Amino acid sequence: MSAKENYLRIKSEMEDILIKSGRSADDALLLAVSKTKPVEMLQDVYDAGCRDFGENKVQEIMDKIDKLPSDIRWHMIGHLQTNKIKYIIDKVYMIHSVDTLHLAEAISKEAVKKNVNARILLEVNVAGEESKFGGSLDEARVLFEEASKLPNLTVCGLMTIAPYVEDAEENRQYFAQLRELSVDLFGKKTDNKRGVELSMGMSGDYPVALQEGSTIIRVGSNIFGERIYV
Ligand SMILES: *Cc1c(COP(=O)(O)O)cnc(C)c1O
Repeated sequence: MSAKENYLRIKSEMEDILIKSGRSADDALLLAVSKTKPVEMLQDVYDAGCRDFGENKVQEIMDKIDKLPSDIRWHMIGHLQTNKIKYIIDKVYMIHSVDTLHLAEAISKEAVKKNVNARILLEVNVAGEESKFGGSLDEARVLFEEASKLPNLTVCGLMTIAPYVEDAEENRQYFAQLRELSVDLFGKKTDNKRGVELSMGMSGDYPVALQEGSTIIRVGSNIFGERIYV
């Protein structure tokens, strides 16, 4: 199946799960994770109605941005080095992967310089995997308090990358824990249609993540096919 067909199929599957979970069909966003994929494929998925694309490298966002329609919302989902913030601060819609106060401060500083407001999510390593970025649930509380004070920056929610597992059910506990933390931190405060963002769920586990309250699922290989790194 083409990327376009995959996108449409997953989108309607997502809407079904949302309805079955007692939510509304537009309660979550299907973010097309297009890293390593050529712009022609992104254009196809765009033509199917997708406006949100996720990339994990600054250079790749910059290469793709000028070749695709300007109403795309680009989401930075990868680890961000402070010296590269300036290249994308006024180009990306949201930065999903803020895991230290140092990074949040650097983003805020660049946002002030460029006179924009940066939307960020705090990355939490819920499962405590050593190979991954992001602090513990407790560290995220401290980071939330501090980052919320910074100028030209809005903490819109939380993000996690769950472990790679054969059985997605194993990740349900981590999604539930992230959701509980978001309720603790944000209460009922909302600043967009979907409310507080919970960026969780990937190709292997998005149905479970949606059942546990995800508002952004980040789906790459199930839309675009396996990634080949050269
Ligand atoms: C690559 C990537 C994804 C998408 O992964 P798939 O398993 O291909 O859906 C999601 N989130 C992040 C942070 C990624 O780097």
